[in-house]
Amino acid sequence: MNAQIIDGKLLASHVRAEWKQRAARLTEQGLRPGLAVIMVGDNPASEIYVRNKVKACSEIGIHSEVHHFSANTNQDEVLDCIRVLNQNQHVHGILVQLPLPSHYINNQVITSIAIQKDVDGFHLYNVGALVTGNTNFAPCTPFGVTMMLEQHHIPVEGRHAVVIGRSNIVGKPMAMMLLERGATVTICSSKTRDLPYFTRSADILVVATGQPQMVTAEMVKPGAAVIDVGINRLPDGRLCGDVDFDSVKNVAGYITPVPGGVGPMTITMLLCNTILAAERYQKNASL
Ligand code: NDP
Repeated sequence: MNAQIIDGKLLASHVRAEWKQRAARLTEQGLRPGLAVIMVGDNPASEIYVRNKVKACSEIGIHSEVHHFSANTNQDEVLDCIRVLNQNQHVHGILVQLPLPSHYINNQVITSIAIQKDVDGFHLYNVGALVTGNTNFAPCTPFGVTMMLEQHHIPVEGRHAVVIGRSNIVGKPMAMMLLERGATVTICSSKTRDLPYFTRSADILVVATGQPQMVTAEMVKPGAAVIDVGINRLPDGRLCGDVDFDSVKNVAGYITPVPGGVGPMTITMLLCNTILAAERYQKNASL
């Protein structure tokens, strides 16, 4: 079997074109959507991610601003900045680029963001909202994955979905969103015994481990939809996912490539969440 490739880059360009119009509509009405990014320290990967977000914002018509602090900045100073941004009417979305330096308490920083501006969906309130089926902002990576499944008409309800990885930013919200859509969900981690036993029964397999090419063809049910969240750099400098694409594409029904799969969708969903936040702000302001 030759899997159908789920082209995240193409889908992202369609979604962005549609949301660009929504951003333009708001701007015409005097409200340009705005995103503030908080970055602490000089993590080179974070710098690239932030640069990409700023570029994507400008392409779609979102005002963006980066508040960059040195690694030894006191956490209180960052919290003060977030409090000011919470009140800033030109800023509708605020995100804190993770990871933060080790002397920071992630939850204290994230929960200082106003819940209506938490476009990453990581605030504890928004996590609770997601878990209880009252999603306010869906976390960007799982949101992108669900859109990929929808666009390819891949059925979720009643299917067995296996998520490998249980992080707060990918694995857990992904599992919740699949559960909400009626899948029977299994969450696996590094502690799972006999991982292939679970993966081989997955109709939908989402892999988010950070382990290069760890999912091989023998671990995949024929015809399954395999979504590769991982982004890893091989010793020769090439990017690869957590799935061994070359072997798995011969077994799976659908597969996402790396690069060009989930990555472009993640950043797209951040743009969508920011525009959504601005639309809600406008609606509330007019009440
Ligand atoms: P984390 O390191 O926070 O979590 C990794 C998870 O994978 C953990 O739950 C871990 O288990 C599990 N795991 C690790 N090794 C194995 C294994 N051998 N078998 C089963 N489970 C395993 O990573 P993230 O969730 O933040 O990210 C995962 C990957 O996705 C990374 O490559 C990251 O770069 C990428 N990523 C990509 C994005 C995109 O837009 N495409 C966005 C965000 C992340 P345990 O909990 O037991 O340690």
